[in-house]
Amino acid sequence: MIKINHKQKKTKQNIHLFTEESWVKLKSDFKWTEPYFYGKKGETFVLAGDSVDILIGLGKSDDLKSFEIQSIANKFSNDFKDKLKPISTSVFGLFSDEFMEEFVKGLYLGTYKYPFEKSHPVWNEKFELHFEIISESKAKEISATTEALCYGQFSGMDWLNKPANFKTVDKISEFLQKESKIHKIKYKSLNRKESQKAGLRAFLAVNQGSSQEAAFTILEYNGGEKNEPKIGLVGKCVLFDTGGISIKPSDNLHYMKSDMGGASAVIGTLLAVAQLKLPVNIVVILPITDNAVSERAYLPSDVITAYNGKTIEVLNTDAEGRMTLADGLSYMSKNYETDVMIDLATLTGSSVRMFGYTCAAYFSNNEELKKELENSADKTNQRLWNLPLWDVWEEDFKSDVADFKNISSKPFGDCIVAGKFLEQFIENHPNWAHLDIAGVAFGNVNYTKEKGATGYGVQLLLDYIKNFSKRNSNKN
Ligand SMILES: [Zn+2]
Repeated sequence: MIKINHKQKKTKQNIHLFTEESWVKLKSDFKWTEPYFYGKKGETFVLAGDSVDILIGLGKSDDLKSFEIQSIANKFSNDFKDKLKPISTSVFGLFSDEFMEEFVKGLYLGTYKYPFEKSHPVWNEKFELHFEIISESKAKEISATTEALCYGQFSGMDWLNKPANFKTVDKISEFLQKESKIHKIKYKSLNRKESQKAGLRAFLAVNQGSSQEAAFTILEYNGGEKNEPKIGLVGKCVLFDTGGISIKPSDNLHYMKSDMGGASAVIGTLLAVAQLKLPVNIVVILPITDNAVSERAYLPSDVITAYNGKTIEVLNTDAEGRMTLADGLSYMSKNYETDVMIDLATLTGSSVRMFGYTCAAYFSNNEELKKELENSADKTNQRLWNLPLWDVWEEDFKSDVADFKNISSKPFGDCIVAGKFLEQFIENHPNWAHLDIAGVAFGNVNYTKEKGATGYGVQLLLDYIKNFSKRNSNKN
């Protein structure tokens, strides 16, 4: 339970936040700080006397963004995980509700480690935050939002970080079932046989080499009224990607446990939304499988008829994500009426080569949606950059023996080709976006030496969903 007190109290542990400018005005209140502290971004300094006063720098005050406060608090929380006491703690120097909210989010998101447990002192029940000026209702809201965000995002991150042998189809299905029960989410999952019957052959082509069952999973959260607009989310959920017969090189192959980054963002978002009981309707599709090598594995040159009847010539079994998503998207489009359909996937190395670890590449067929997503991306600093879906790219994956090849024969633009390929399976959905998060879902993080889950996507989608819900309630 995150405790935020709206009443001021004299406390023994105090956190003071300063911009460089506010520090100049207030530094005379603090002795012995020169030349140790100037209010520079991320700077910390501890003064101990009758109380412990921790100074944190926010940098220059002009143009200070709320997400910067969150990231400074996140880093502070991780750096001080063994140094904070679980006692009442006052926070000074944040003068807007938004800044206070971002500080609390950062403080708690910075407690993540794998596997997550609430061992950081801020989760101790004796830890309590006191802000200078905050209303009781805002304090409650920040506490509930942060708690739900951590719950959702940490669940998703834990799944992404799990080793391959802990990340089986059965285990994740069990988890999703359990969470669905707790949050009144409708759970349905098609195994291999049922997927066959449904005609999910592109998805099954990837699963056929696996020793594990397929689990084409559909989750429905109905927090809104029955006829209210619905959001569709599809997450790539390849639990481990060997590349299949087009096998990957062994260097860094262990990181291919991260090929369910799309699903982990979607799961994190869904759980946070459900925990907050947001008044929206969401349907989620996770085509869960691994991409394994065996005598049954699908082969380059195979021609597969996807769920929507279009045929795909498999030229590379490592381009499996788009096979599973092709069926995920067309299944959603044909069976659910969604007002917006967004898929997230760790899809291509090409997006990483283009943008590195700084932003996700995204594609959309709707200008409004582009603006809404970019707004949320800029606000949460989970950045997105739009790339084109020009028809000229379609030529690159026309096949001689099927409707499409699953990769282009040209050695470039795979990220765009993949987006254009997926567009063939959205069944003319007028409001769709595809987020290629290969570079941002898993990488260098402060809580672990090697690469780990970043939590990318949850805050972005949550912000988008909150705005979506607000827009619709304004219409009614
Ligand atoms: Zn692959």
